Amino acid sequence: MRLVARLLGFLGISWLLLAAGCYEVPVTGRSAISMVSDKEVAKQSLAAFEALKKKYPRSRNKDMQARVQRVGERLAKVVFWDVPDADWEFVVFEVPQQINAFAMAGGKVGVFSGLFKIIQNDDQLASVLAHEIGHVAARHVHERLSQDMAIQGGGLLVGGIMAGSGAGGLTSQAVIDAYGLSTGITAVGFDRKKEKEADHIGLMYMARAGYDPEESVKVIENLENASAGQPLPPAWLSTHPSNPERILQLMDLMPKALAARRQSSQVQEHTLVK
Ligand SMILES: [Zn+2]
Repeated sequence: MRLVARLLGFLGISWLLLAAGCYEVPVTGRSAISMVSDKEVAKQSLAAFEALKKKYPRSRNKDMQARVQRVGERLAKVVFWDVPDADWEFVVFEVPQQINAFAMAGGKVGVFSGLFKIIQNDDQLASVLAHEIGHVAARHVHERLSQDMAIQGGGLLVGGIMAGSGAGGLTSQAVIDAYGLSTGITAVGFDRKKEKEADHIGLMYMARAGYDPEESVKVIENLENASAGQPLPPAWLSTHPSNPERILQLMDLMPKALAARRQSSQVQEHTLVK
């Protein structure tokens, strides 16, 4: 089996293309390629999430948990068709030193309690969660795993493709690494293009859920203020480079997002509960 895998590996690009699955990223419409199975990534993401639940204590702050649940459920409704296989779960971890949040394939969402240092309202929380869910909807982790496998060579690539049949190329550790969650504060996030894409998708998702998209700009400003004068930037900042480029893109998309919010059937309900 191993020899066959290597031989197939040598066939290189043509094999890649044969095995690859093309898909369209929701909201942006970008064409992307995934070489890993959705089922396998969801399975390993679930295992990774369970591992993180063992690693970090849950927050006992009921208010934080309720807020994340409330906002998360509303976003989950609007992303139903873009993340159809999700079994949503929202957990606040007691990690006050980390301003961070993540979402995984299969609908597993984690928020580190430090995030609440920069969150002033539900709209801002929605902006962060929608950005993270944007990464999931765009299947950025699938793309990253596909790239890693291509770099590491054909053997692992074939193992990855066949993971569903038990060859086992994909591990929950590889998935944790791909999400940038392995080393905490020094974690390496997605590249800038993917971060901007998640900003774009997240902005539209939060607006469709009836949240105020303009609060997304404030979150970036809050983050900048929180990191000013600190020796190390918070993890969320190091993995989500904060720069004028991000804010400019958000401002560019703002008219569209505001229109989406006006159309959202949930605006009325939101105004009442706000
Ligand atoms: Zn991101």
